[in-house]
Formats: sequence, C-alpha cells, structure tokens
Amino acid sequence: MLAPEIESRPWVEQLALDDASYRAQLAYLFDRSAFYREKLTAAGFSSAPAAGGLADIAGLPLTEKDEIRATRTPENPIGAHLCATPSEIVRIYSTSGTTGAPSYIPLTASDLENWVTASARSYAASGIAAGQRIVSTYNAGPFVAGAALAAFDRIGLCHIPVGTGNTERLAHSVEALRPEAVVLTPSYAAHLVEWTAERDVDLRESSVERVLVAGEPGGGEPAFRAMLEAGWGARVTEAMGVGDIGVSLWGECEEQDGMHLGARGFVHAELIEPETGAALGLEDGATGELVLTHLRHRAAPLLRFRTRDHVQVRTTPCKCGRTGPRVRCRGRTDDMLIVRGVNVFPSAVREVVSAFAPQVSGHILVTPEAPGVKQEPPLPVNVELARGATDDPLLAQAIRERIRDVLVVQTRVELVPWGTLRRSEYKSKLVER
Ligand SMILES: [Zn+2]
Repeated sequence: MLAPEIESRPWVEQLALDDASYRAQLAYLFDRSAFYREKLTAAGFSSAPAAGGLADIAGLPLTEKDEIRATRTPENPIGAHLCATPSEIVRIYSTSGTTGAPSYIPLTASDLENWVTASARSYAASGIAAGQRIVSTYNAGPFVAGAALAAFDRIGLCHIPVGTGNTERLAHSVEALRPEAVVLTPSYAAHLVEWTAERDVDLRESSVERVLVAGEPGGGEPAFRAMLEAGWGARVTEAMGVGDIGVSLWGECEEQDGMHLGARGFVHAELIEPETGAALGLEDGATGELVLTHLRHRAAPLLRFRTRDHVQVRTTPCKCGRTGPRVRCRGRTDDMLIVRGVNVFPSAVREVVSAFAPQVSGHILVTPEAPGVKQEPPLPVNVELARGATDDPLLAQAIRERIRDVLVVQTRVELVPWGTLRRSEYKSKLVER
C-alpha cells in the first residue's frame, strides 16, 4: 500500500472524515457554483447546512451529464458548475465527444494532485512496485488518462509509453525492455494474445507478470479474464475511472475480488436503482448504477453524478487489508439493451460466450434489429469461432441455451468464422446496428 494508514483505515472512520469534507464541499458549492446554488435551491435546500451531511445525501437531486452540458455558453464553455477562477486552473482535459462537442474538465493544482494520488493508490493495489517497468499503451492526448500516466511516476515505476496503434512497437518493447507490467484496455490485451500467437510468439514466456486493464468494462469477467491470464501467463487486475470525477478512481488488488476505492477521501460513492434513481445500500452483492460525489474538489466539483456504470458491490473483508466497499463493473447503461423487460449488457453476453473457449475466439457482436434500447426476442448475436474450429449447430444451440439460463434472454446465435469480427487496439464495439 502506498498509504497504509489511509487505505486500511476502518471504513466508519473514513466516513466520518468524509462527512466533514462533504459539508465543507457543500458550503463551497453554495458559495461558488452557480449551477448547484440554483439546483439545490430549486430542490428546497436554501443553504449548505440545510442540505445536511453524508447521511442525508440521498435526499439531494442527482446530476446528469446532459444538465451540465446544457449550461455551456460561448462565455463559459466549461459550464455553470465551474467554481474556480481562470488563474486557479492549471489543466483542462476534454472528453472524446462521442455524443456532441467535447466537454471540458478543468483542474486546479490541488485537484490534479488528488487525482494523481488516487490513481497511484489504485494502480499500486495491483502489486506493481517502485523500480519495476511498465509499458503503457494509452494515447493520452487531450484525455484524462494523462493524469493516470503521472501516477506511474508517483509509484516510482520506470514508465515506457508506446501508445496505441503500433502493436509491433509494443511487442518489441516487451521483448527488448523486459517490463514486469503492461497497462492497456482488456480488448487490446485480448488482441495481443491472438496477434502474438499468429506470429509464433508465446506471451507466456515474456517478462510480463501483471496485466493491468482499464478503459472499458469486461476485464473483471471471470471467463474473459481467465482467457487473458492463460494467454499472457500473467495476473490480470483492473482499474476504473470516470472522466468528469477522476482518473483510475478504483483499482483491484492481488486478491482479484473487485476494485478498491483508491480515491477514498476525495470521492464518495453511492449506488442507485437506474430506472427510478432510488438510493440503494452499498451492501454485499448489491448491483446498481454508481453515483459519485466530489469531497474536496475545487475547479468544477460534482454532486451525486450519475456515472452510467453498472456495478456489483463487495463488502467482505479483503485479505490485502484495504477497507471499504469494492466494485466490479458489469457494463455501461449506454450499452444496455432491454429484451422483453430484461436488462442485457453486451459484455455479459461475451462473458457467457467466452466460457465456450477453446471452441470460440471470445469475440462477439450483438446486432439489435429495433432502434433504441428495447428489443424483441430473439436478440441476434454473432459468435466467432476459434481458429480452425468448424461450424457446429450443436455449439450454437449450447451457447443459446447457456445465455438463456444465465441472462434470461432469448438469442439467435450465429457462428461466424475466425477473423470475421473486428479486433480493437482500444475499446471493443460489442453492439452494431
Ligand atoms: Zn484487496
């Protein structure tokens, strides 16, 4: 642990400290945030004391990304939630803007410091340690991932950036520089297993002992993870951030039983029922959408921000000694389909299909026929066969039955030859319309 006195602090003590931070954050919002002053007043809270403490947080309104986006103007392109003055802001990241113009994410010096501190804790949980080498594959550019790269310096690693889109360079770096770890998306980690196998290179014989995955859901799904671990001959752990809140907020330890909150003390986590917004307890086994609140943020703090990440909570004590709830991300609301009332995440379909390895490659593509979220069964799913495997109607039937049993959804499984579905060096597309 980078900060054992903090990371192993009893969770009730953490919550007491967080309550004090939260009350101060609320006072700051009423003082400086036009967005929250208006939003909270409209909800019946005229002052910070009226809004109470963490125990009362579920009574406050949720924040949607679109609400903030709607407040952007040419004079204030960041949005009405901006609290800091221009001279206080030391960095401005932006989102990829897949749904419209990019959103800007400003940080003060203390915000940036806290981001790097949290990210360093999350990545260090994986077991990587000072003096080891890590190859990174993120083209950070304008994106918040840049702050995660600073976390590697903080841990004391030798950081070898190779970027995305140059698999030859990555393979050469691993062979020549003998890193103990690589960090990449789970999709790219899977792609590399295939890419090296085609070239008669055995990744299991490489120096890599730890594969750190982040950037998309899936790295925690047991069958998919088992496939990655077998291919790399290395331990796979995952990390997860939320652009508007912080980079690599969560990181998994060597017990591989969900991600710890590296951003403890900086961020408060809640769970809600996604359809109704009702608060759910952070109890063992609970599932719902993750909602996050900044506790000590300065530039553009967010309160009860809907992350769109669906997670499952673990609260059993972890052998590593870190305290507090852990999460496993199941998928994104944005990717979710509803088939006759049942929520289906494409990554969950991939997980079920991956268990049919070595007959399948692990690549799938869900091709919904209706526009929008709601679909009528059977849901079409293309499942790619493993290299050399032949089309087998019994296999398709077995996969269909397993998906029905596990996910309670009727599908139409079509087996496609190896190499048919597109590989990704970044994030996989599991749905195509
Ligand atoms: Zn642990």
